Amino acid sequence: MRKTIFYHAYSLAFFISLISTFSASRDMTDELNYEQQFSHVFTRNGPPVNKVALTFDDGPDLVYTPKILNILKKEHVKATFFVLGVNAARYPEIIRRIVKEGHTLGNHTFDHINLIHSTRSKIKWEISATEQVLVRISGQSPRWFRAPYGNVNSLVLNELQQLGYHAVNWSVDSNDWKSLPAKTVKQNILHDVKPGAIILQHCAGNEREDLTGTVRALPDVIRTLKKRGYQFVTIPQLLYSESKAVHARP
Ligand SMILES: [Zn+2]
Repeated sequence: MRKTIFYHAYSLAFFISLISTFSASRDMTDELNYEQQFSHVFTRNGPPVNKVALTFDDGPDLVYTPKILNILKKEHVKATFFVLGVNAARYPEIIRRIVKEGHTLGNHTFDHINLIHSTRSKIKWEISATEQVLVRISGQSPRWFRAPYGNVNSLVLNELQQLGYHAVNWSVDSNDWKSLPAKTVKQNILHDVKPGAIILQHCAGNEREDLTGTVRALPDVIRTLKKRGYQFVTIPQLLYSESKAVHARP
């Protein structure tokens, strides 16, 4: 009997962990459906040209974002930063630096909530509050949006459309938020890059996320992809590319 109770408790715990794993991860089939249904407001990949876009989420901060900006400056590369309203308000000087150095700002909600579990009014607030902070700090009103965890649904995409945003997910996931060593971050990126790739990395995180690997891998990632014939562009530059441009080696 005792054994049976333990077994049931174990099964229940396993079942709950299974559900939470699935609900936290992105549903690729759903994403594909949304991309087809909302192609005018939702993109996961650029056109197949010899260009790639580096994107950095969750910033800014004072630890990793400045280091990443230093590397991008040295390598003459422009990127896209999907920032959180709460962090932008905390570190306005980094937001101004991102803009001044020619990068593109994107909206990543105010405090990183899972939008697919939110009401319409909460979704609207997360986007608009971040926009207001960014306008106040930088004078710019971003038109690009990335949902936390890449999680979108019809409600989110309709709201983004009404607010004049375009949602951008990614085609290459560095998985750098798992505090991976530089070698693994580099492998994750280089293995999956194809023409028109949108590459996901992070430039800030919570206290458990060590992004040293992201910073250390970045110069090598940039140089290797340049050798393969890729040009680094921002999200607007990538999505407005001519699809008939020269193809790169995959
Ligand atoms: Zn994020």
